[in-house]
Amino acid sequence: MTNIILLGPPGAGKGTQASHLVESRNMTQLSTGDMLREAQTSGTEMGKKVAAIMAEGKLVTDQIVIGLIREKLQEGSEGGFIFDGFPRTLPQADALAKLLDEMGLKLNTVIEMQVDDEVLVERVVNRAAEAKAAGKPVRADDTADAMRTRLMEYYKKTSPLIGYYYAKGNLQRIDGMDTIDEVRKSIDWIMGS
Ligand code: AMP
Repeated sequence: MTNIILLGPPGAGKGTQASHLVESRNMTQLSTGDMLREAQTSGTEMGKKVAAIMAEGKLVTDQIVIGLIREKLQEGSEGGFIFDGFPRTLPQADALAKLLDEMGLKLNTVIEMQVDDEVLVERVVNRAAEAKAAGKPVRADDTADAMRTRLMEYYKKTSPLIGYYYAKGNLQRIDGMDTIDEVRKSIDWIMGS
């Protein structure tokens, strides 16, 4: 069983690659973004509380996302967990280490997906335009404005995790500018068979 973190800015392709891993390796994707959006759709108190923060592109509190992850970890996974969009702060990273330790689980690899900033903004704005054209729901935070805030949050609060995991000896970096298929191959190569 392999447990990995996909680390990277918004629009890096973490969700896309996580879906591939779910299919090919029977892993379990834990996306705190998806969980928070579900909470909004189902109209829970927590969902209502975080809606405005998310629409603006800011991070919700550590306490909320750590609680969500704790619940999901307890459900277990056959193929291992993919942490997608979590952790996003140093306290979240410490909390994850503690949770995994308590459950006797190991964090195998942190894969950092590197993508140029201009491309990130372009990808997210295009994602919104494509969803709209296809009549699908558009994420409230897939706007150029919210994207700037999301990038700022990433650089201020999440990017320190790169050094954190490097120091722990877990970090692997890949070029996220490649095609989806090439990125997938890089991840497969890192994860082995
Ligand atoms: P994502 O789908 O990963 O891009 O997340 C969308 C939004 O959900 C983020 O901009 C944050 O507002 C919130 N969010 C998701 N994951 C976290 C996290 N680990 N910590 C704090 N906020 C999060």
